[in-house]
Amino acid sequence: MTVFSGPVFDMAVKQFGVIADHLDIPEDERGRLLMPKRAVTVSCPIHRDDGSIAVFEGYRVQHHLTLGPTKGGTRFAASVDLGEVAALAIWMSWKCALVGLPYGGAKGGICVDPSSISRLELEALSRRYMQEMIPFVGPHTDVMAPDMGTNEQVMAWFMDTYSMYQGRTVTEIVTGKPVASGGTLGRREATGRGVAHLARKVLDELGIAAEGATAVIQGFGNVGSYAASELHRFGVKIIAVSDHSGALTCRSGLDIPTLMRHAQQHGSIAGFSSELCCDPDSILTMPCDILVPAAMEQVIDATTAERLQCRILAEGANGPTTPAADLVLADREQEIFLIPDILCNSGGVVVSYFEWVQDLQQLFWTEEEVTRREYEILDRAFAQMVSRARQDQVFNRTAAMAIGVERVRAGKNTRGLFP
Ligand code: GLU
Repeated sequence: MTVFSGPVFDMAVKQFGVIADHLDIPEDERGRLLMPKRAVTVSCPIHRDDGSIAVFEGYRVQHHLTLGPTKGGTRFAASVDLGEVAALAIWMSWKCALVGLPYGGAKGGICVDPSSISRLELEALSRRYMQEMIPFVGPHTDVMAPDMGTNEQVMAWFMDTYSMYQGRTVTEIVTGKPVASGGTLGRREATGRGVAHLARKVLDELGIAAEGATAVIQGFGNVGSYAASELHRFGVKIIAVSDHSGALTCRSGLDIPTLMRHAQQHGSIAGFSSELCCDPDSILTMPCDILVPAAMEQVIDATTAERLQCRILAEGANGPTTPAADLVLADREQEIFLIPDILCNSGGVVVSYFEWVQDLQQLFWTEEEVTRREYEILDRAFAQMVSRARQDQVFNRTAAMAIGVERVRAGKNTRGLFP
């Protein structure tokens, strides 16, 4: 019996089963590796602007504390539930271990559609959530960050709330803060930049010139928009993008800098152009060199996987591909090079780690330094994944996850069981 349930949690369990079988992990070790260490549920009451009181349910799941504090984003979305948050926390663990960060995985969230509340209500909810979490988090226990539906401003409110309770400024309690409040240069762009950097690396390996190559981006939030803008800077034509409001396509390439300005001003791509509108469901299967799912989990099922027409699948989102789709992708690995989520979008948490380190030391780096070090870590993890895939004759997701799981396992086994 477990309190965690739902399709996303089931997916994390299934994926782990594949890796545990591959690594031949004994049955009695599996629960210790997979099941979250802590899960907290809180009710967050706030005053609405009309004077009424509303209560929102919030969660935080800390997957393991074996290698250091836990680390991970906080999601504000109507779809958030405990099972989803637990799955995302588990994926954070494999991700942090793969790129060699001294963290376990965590994730949090509030079940709320942020567009349905005012800015004042959003501030009240963010502060109340952090206040409820104070007994369970800390710069050496669990460090939050942004995720879907949250941003730098929410992180600043989290940091301020925690700091007011401590009676001093504790910038290292969250990452992804505004630079003006102890954030690092290069964090906002880090995830999208990492996605684009790895996609270009694979283009090079496949002998495809970036100049004139094509890309399709699903999701135009922090990850998708910066991935698009960086790929655009490399000369890649972004032939389609979508977000929750719709989709746009243009064979000769969308004007990404203008689209980014529009999305920043209006909160979505809606209203950018009526001629370029297309069916959002059609974009994943468009012929292109690079496909970047950068929105939700489970958008690529087995049927969609059969129909993909990309050369590179660069997973900007967490968990966009179901285990059934993975079986298809493993068969199609000669046609489609997969950059799995835990590597592809890890630039975000890598630069969050840099932000935490800079806050702890009160010594700040230039943006060039941040980005150079980010790429160094991504390049190393990429090389390790590729050589592991070759050595074990498995596809990239299995190789990447095997490295992550193995590192967490080694940490647990060398520490042993207490008492
Ligand atoms: N939410 C992001 C992720 O899923 C970033 C986490 C972090 O920076 O700690 O990787």
